[in-house]
Amino acid sequence: MVRAIIRDPILLSMKAAEATDQDLSDARDLMDTLKANAEVCIGMAGNMIGVNKRMIAVGGMVRFLMLNPRIRAKRSPYHTVESCLSLEGEREAIRYQEIEVEYQDMHFQKHRQTFHGLTAQIIQHEMDHLDGILI
Ligand SMILES: [Zn+2]
Repeated sequence: MVRAIIRDPILLSMKAAEATDQDLSDARDLMDTLKANAEVCIGMAGNMIGVNKRMIAVGGMVRFLMLNPRIRAKRSPYHTVESCLSLEGEREAIRYQEIEVEYQDMHFQKHRQTFHGLTAQIIQHEMDHLDGILI
C-alpha cells in the first residue's frame, strides 16, 4: 500500500525503534511507497511514511529493503550535497565512499554486505533518518 510522505520535522526527528516481525506489513508499504515515488526519490526510511521503526528501502537499479541496518565499517569520507523528499532544498553532508553494513532481510536473515558509491550514499542518508537526523 502506498502511504503519504511525512514532512513534519518533529515526527522526523524521533529516533526509530528496532523492527520486528510485527512490522513486515509496514515494510512492504515502505517498498510500495518508494516504488510509487521512484521518479523523485531513490531511498526512503520508515519514519518518512509514519513508521518509526528501523527499516529503510533503497532504490536505484534494484530496490531492496533493510531491517535494523548497522554500519560496521566505513572508508573514504567525502563532502556532498543531498536533497530529501521530506525536506525543502539541498543540504551538505559528509558521506563515505564504501560502507560495510549488517542488516536483516524480510525473513530476518542476517546479512553483512559492502556497498559503494550512490547505493552507499542512499543507505547512509536513510540511516540518518532512523536516528532522527535530517539532512
Ligand atoms: Zn531523506
